[in-house]
Amino acid sequence: MSNCIELEKADDPAAQVARTVNVAPVSFSKNSSVANADSANAANVAAKKAGAIFLQNVDVCYGSGAKAVRAVQGIDLEISPGEFVSVLGPSGCGKSTLIGAIAGSTRIARGAVRLDGEPVRKPGADRGVVFQQHALFPWKNVLSNVEFGLKMRGIARAERRERAREFLNIVGLSDFLHHYPAQLSGGMQQRVSIARVLVNQPRVLLMDEPFSALDAQTRLQMQELLLELWSEFRMTVLFVTHDIDEAIFLSDRVIVLTQRPGRVRAEIPVLLPRPRLPDTLTTRAFVHLKKQCMDLLREENILARRNNCAQQRTREAELEPAISVS
Ligand code: ADP
Repeated sequence: MSNCIELEKADDPAAQVARTVNVAPVSFSKNSSVANADSANAANVAAKKAGAIFLQNVDVCYGSGAKAVRAVQGIDLEISPGEFVSVLGPSGCGKSTLIGAIAGSTRIARGAVRLDGEPVRKPGADRGVVFQQHALFPWKNVLSNVEFGLKMRGIARAERRERAREFLNIVGLSDFLHHYPAQLSGGMQQRVSIARVLVNQPRVLLMDEPFSALDAQTRLQMQELLLELWSEFRMTVLFVTHDIDEAIFLSDRVIVLTQRPGRVRAEIPVLLPRPRLPDTLTTRAFVHLKKQCMDLLREENILARRNNCAQQRTREAELEPAISVS
């Protein structure tokens, strides 16, 4: 594992905030105005072209030497512009690592990551990221949080205010512009997170278990909101989850990763009709897909447990001579 790379810790909230913000200049269409999520005007928002994601033979390692951890290995993945793809896999198999590699915040040890043919080298607002825990500034109100990225990119105050209001309206938070993150429910905080990313008009939306901390009912509401936003703006979405129902409900395709180091174990097309509605969850076709995913994940979890036991035995065997000598 000599080619493993030392990486910065990925869980610093300030770093997460920085990663969702772009500094590249952007210009908005003058007449792009959104009234609310139900409004036909929403389609007027000048959506940028959805991005094509391409990963070839990607390895990511953390640390170096004997303590190096190979998180993912030999990942080949192509995601078409506007496609909605979910990633499932055992805990610790490298799902978040994949998001980091595409976001440009995690360096790859081998292979290639491209967005629309261009190598990904660093974060940018063409790839918005939404994390499980919101990365909002606690000292800024909702409106200021959403306009922050635009401010960093030099957009004039009046325009960025207008844009932030539009996107907060779209996610149903127009009555909470002056609230602070701590005054909002978990679902509302995630709505703000999504608005803050969408206001930058990303070509790709990367979501790392964004709804995992929410109760079941709020989660379903957020899933439906996300599908509405996706059909409105048509960005490419890569969605990491450990929830099989969520992956199938949302996606055009589900990628199942192996235990760590994560490799692509299966790609399952989800040909369920859209729009997806709560009733979709109980259809025969849905249940069939769910069983397919469950069987694959169960196998991977069993393999992961066996591997852990084998590693534990090896460690004990290495320690044994030292114990018997003492
Ligand atoms: P998942 O999202 O599937 O749970 P991750 O991508 O978070 O998995 O992690 C994959 C593996 O890499 C895990 O074994 C994890 O402990 C390790 N890992 C993740 N981030 C770091 C880091 N910053 N330093 C060292 N190891 C890490």
